[in-house]
Amino acid sequence: MPMEGPKCTVCSKTVYRAESTLCFGLSFHTKCFRCSVCQQHIRIEKVQRNKENELFCNVHFKRLQEIAHQKSITVLVSLNPIPSNMETLRNQA
Ligand SMILES: [Zn+2]
Ligand SMILES: [Zn+2]
Repeated sequence: MPMEGPKCTVCSKTVYRAESTLCFGLSFHTKCFRCSVCQQHIRIEKVQRNKENELFCNVHFKRLQEIAHQKSITVLVSLNPIPSNMETLRNQA
């Protein structure tokens, strides 16, 4: 059985050394080493990743963080019990 190389983090296919990019201790095809939003090739010193090991350029990683931040605010607001309590208090008064 032939030795299998590491698998590409993006496409899950075997990465051969000649076409490999190593980053975060993970293997990538050089052609797969790109922003998952804009598909632009990313320089290894500029690359960002999320928890799922998806790669992003600086621009789209920032945008992702902004969206995540907005979502967490929305969740906090929708879980905030104060408005309904205020309503209850007013009804009791
Ligand atoms: Zn790949
Ligand atoms: Zn991008």
